[in-house]
Amino acid sequence: MRIAPSIIGADIAHLEGAVRAVERGGADLLHVDVMDGVYVPQITIGARMVETLRRLTTLPLDVHLMVVQPERHIEAFARAGATSIAFHPEATDHPHRVLAHIRTLGAQAGLALNPGTSPEACAWVVEALDFVLVMSVDPGWAGQAFIPSVLPKIARVRTLVAPRAVWIGIDGGITPATAAAAVAAGADTLVAATAIFGAAEGAEAATRRLRTAAGG
Ligand code: ZN
Repeated sequence: MRIAPSIIGADIAHLEGAVRAVERGGADLLHVDVMDGVYVPQITIGARMVETLRRLTTLPLDVHLMVVQPERHIEAFARAGATSIAFHPEATDHPHRVLAHIRTLGAQAGLALNPGTSPEACAWVVEALDFVLVMSVDPGWAGQAFIPSVLPKIARVRTLVAPRAVWIGIDGGITPATAAAAVAAGADTLVAATAIFGAAEGAEAATRRLRTAAGG
């Protein structure tokens, strides 16, 4: 089980301190939520920020593109140092081609599935998939409430991609209260922004707490 703090939750004025805190807390990778103001209303992080993060840490950088036409951006994020790149299948006409392109750029390729997106979206691109990000909120903001009805989707994705060793992340509303249910449903990677960077106890302790809540 891996913990992936989402850097969108950090105070950007103290970016290095935020990265060090989750490193000390035992984070396994850093999740980077990229929003373009079109696919979702907000604008957040660009490839320059990923370059900065790449200089700050050796943790894998997991880039989640909430952008239209992700094919226009994957090269910039891969060159900036992304270890893995996920996009939403509705955001492009050619998801298989985009997945294949991400791999040729040396990163792991993933699909992000909104709560209303069918897991069958994975079925026809299985051989091009390295991971799937199951959204447990509709993307757009940190701090939204977890949608438990998405949990059975994780098992369905696992069945669709078997026997391939595809990792499955869950993203949205993950807290110590929801983590165990997500892991029980089959998620192996937990993305959390507010529960880590917004925690009163600090991001280091909150990273540990999330792992404990998820059962280690
Ligand atoms: Zn995300």
